[in-house]
Amino acid sequence: MNPSIILINPWIYDFAAYDLWSKPLGLLYIAGYLKKLGLDVHYIDCLDVYHPDMVTGNSIHHATRRRYGTGKYWRQAIQAPPALSHINRIYSRYGITKELFIKELQRIHSPSAILVTSLMTYWYPGVVEAISIAKEIHPHTPVILGGIYARLCEGHAKKRSGADHVSTETILPDMDSILNLLKGFDIPVPRIPADDVTPIYPAFDLLNKPGYVCIMTSTGCPYRCRYCASSYLYPEFTRRDPLEVREEIRFWNREYRISDFAFYDDALLVKSEGYAAPMMEGIIRDQLKIRFHTPNALHVKEISREIAGLLYASGFRMIRLGLETSDIDRHNNLDNKVSEGDFERAVHNLLKAGFKRQDIGAYVLMGLPGQSIKSVEDTIRFVGAVGAVPYLAEYSPIPHTSLWDDAVKSSSYDISTEPLFHNNTILPCWDEDRRQKVPGLRQMVREIRQEAIA
Ligand code: SF4
Repeated sequence: MNPSIILINPWIYDFAAYDLWSKPLGLLYIAGYLKKLGLDVHYIDCLDVYHPDMVTGNSIHHATRRRYGTGKYWRQAIQAPPALSHINRIYSRYGITKELFIKELQRIHSPSAILVTSLMTYWYPGVVEAISIAKEIHPHTPVILGGIYARLCEGHAKKRSGADHVSTETILPDMDSILNLLKGFDIPVPRIPADDVTPIYPAFDLLNKPGYVCIMTSTGCPYRCRYCASSYLYPEFTRRDPLEVREEIRFWNREYRISDFAFYDDALLVKSEGYAAPMMEGIIRDQLKIRFHTPNALHVKEISREIAGLLYASGFRMIRLGLETSDIDRHNNLDNKVSEGDFERAVHNLLKAGFKRQDIGAYVLMGLPGQSIKSVEDTIRFVGAVGAVPYLAEYSPIPHTSLWDDAVKSSSYDISTEPLFHNNTILPCWDEDRRQKVPGLRQMVREIRQEAIA
């Protein structure tokens, strides 16, 4: 009998969480890979909004779905950890109940290994909880933790997660590294025959209902923005063959009737001539009735007239641009990804291509070390004046980024030892005076949004 492996996507523990095409893509790739090897793969998704056994109880807030597969998770208010108890907001566990998670684990007999993923560093309480329960139910099975928290806070994860092994490997795009991990625990795994060249897709088929599929055409990013961990997590910028990506999209649409796709790329449009442009041209020729979404921002610089036209014609609907700030001096110091006139040109090209104003969103970073309220206000006004809609993105300090040392210096929280303080809700790198002014910034954004849909 082939080894049986459990893969777990843990709960989110936070003040707020929303399913904006959020799936553990790395874990689902591993699941697809292990399935192809013939292993018995069990996927437990604590964030499953379609679990057939979930029932609404008094303390459980219902998961709801909105446009294009996005929506709210199941939610249960819980006590905030002591470090965050001074924050006057409701802290919650997002996802299925603990009882249901236990039932899911009990269904699987004698698993050979349990693989747990992790995302935001400050969501680690959900990881710790999932591992602790998994070890109670399967005390003799090794638990391996991977994912972003494990990689960014390795020392903390080793000390606190309870996992038998914390993996800091980059699983994507080198899937073979998972084999070495399993072999390290004496789990016999077959190899894929050399003549088997069928592609490995993330195992969205294991979900109770895959409402959308996330696609990654590349890993990494050629830019080196000081607040972003992309270059640490993926030092190389690597891309898939655009024809293969197009084939994957056709596969999900044909076999599972998926019509919403979210690109997880950090740099989808960079050097688009050989990549995104032919991929979009192919999709237009296929005449599929599908929609594309970009929860990770698109690069402002890359939105030429031709690219804007291809984005519209191939089915992109909600565009999110990575503006961050309208202050060009700050850009030169932080990211170098936007120059004078880039944003105006990008928005103009998108509007000309057919996008409506309310479909063109621009992320505005708020909460950076040393950033003033005026700088955020100016950016919000600039976005509105150019004809797009601002979206505030609260800065979360990330270990191993070039801005990390500034973040540590500017924060009154001990962010270097406690990842809970990386939570962007608490704006850890701003003082109380600036935090008090956030409602005013939100009101400015609301007014521009209302104007855009009027
Ligand atoms: S362009 Fe985006 S993905 Fe690339 S380094 Fe900057 S913030 Fe990160």
